Amino acid sequence: MIDLHIHTNFSDGEYSPEETIRMAHEAGITAAAITDHDAVSGIAAAAKAATDYGITFFPGIEISVQGGKELHILGYGINPDDPGLLEFCARHARDRSVRCGKMLAYLQDHGVNMTLEDVRCCNDGRTSGRPHFARALVKKGYASSVQDAFDRYLTTPEFYARVERPKPLPADGIRVIRESGGVAVLAHPHQLKLEEPALNALLVQLKEMGLQGIEAYYSRHTPQQTACYLALAKKHDLLYTCGSDFHGPGVKPDIALGTGIDKNLCITDSRIPEKLSLAIRKQHCKKIIS
Ligand code: AMP
Ligand code: ZN
Ligand code: FE
Ligand code: FE
Repeated sequence: MIDLHIHTNFSDGEYSPEETIRMAHEAGITAAAITDHDAVSGIAAAAKAATDYGITFFPGIEISVQGGKELHILGYGINPDDPGLLEFCARHARDRSVRCGKMLAYLQDHGVNMTLEDVRCCNDGRTSGRPHFARALVKKGYASSVQDAFDRYLTTPEFYARVERPKPLPADGIRVIRESGGVAVLAHPHQLKLEEPALNALLVQLKEMGLQGIEAYYSRHTPQQTACYLALAKKHDLLYTCGSDFHGPGVKPDIALGTGIDKNLCITDSRIPEKLSLAIRKQHCKKIIS
């Protein structure tokens, strides 16, 4: 089984890179990628664990960019020691820390008494995410579930206007991935909530910026959506990839490693890691030559 979209506790997932890879192995995953939000510091430990378990491993990242509320770009085969990429991650970690302070003030105005200690979101230089706040809100009784916390506080117009952090332009997110040797893939296209013609137009633009793939198989895609994204991949000569977006049961209780929601994923198409490896090798050659 293949799962190329997995979060660890180096961003807003619940398990360490080593635990995550062990769980992936136990779930029957043979090719995996760790894709933490704006962070690469969990990759070395995950790569080592993957070697121990004989898992084909892709060092990855997920970058949130401007345009739509949830336009995310996955990067595969990136060099986690690339200075440009590290600088990019550090900048966005700082912006996330600033957002933590704004978030606490915003929540305070909504009657929520919470401290950074409750969120423990800025520890160890790891990236802090909205799921950390959502879990703290549930724990302190301000929301009935992570989803309820998102609906009540973390996806409101006021949140986006007052709290949300600056995000890079899509072209800059794609560029930092490619310049660090990676292959850029559009994550979970369904989240853009675009009809096919609009998504088609966006893909044309993103491809001009250097996009190379689309996450056609994803836990929250319907079979019809998956078919549409596979057809768009073919039309635009893009790679298609698959990922669960596993974070752990406290953050996304319905999403399991590799199998997705109620076993709707379970992808075993070996052409996915093969074609991705090939594209990564080409990208590395390009970087060496340029
Ligand atoms: P951040 O990058 O900190 O803004 O948070 C992004 C994380 O929040 C990702 O893991 C998303 O899947 C998660 N997320 C975004 N919107 C929602 C939502 N409505 N319900 C649950 N999780 C969400
Ligand atoms: Zn996340
Ligand atoms: Fe995402
Ligand atoms: Fe994700």
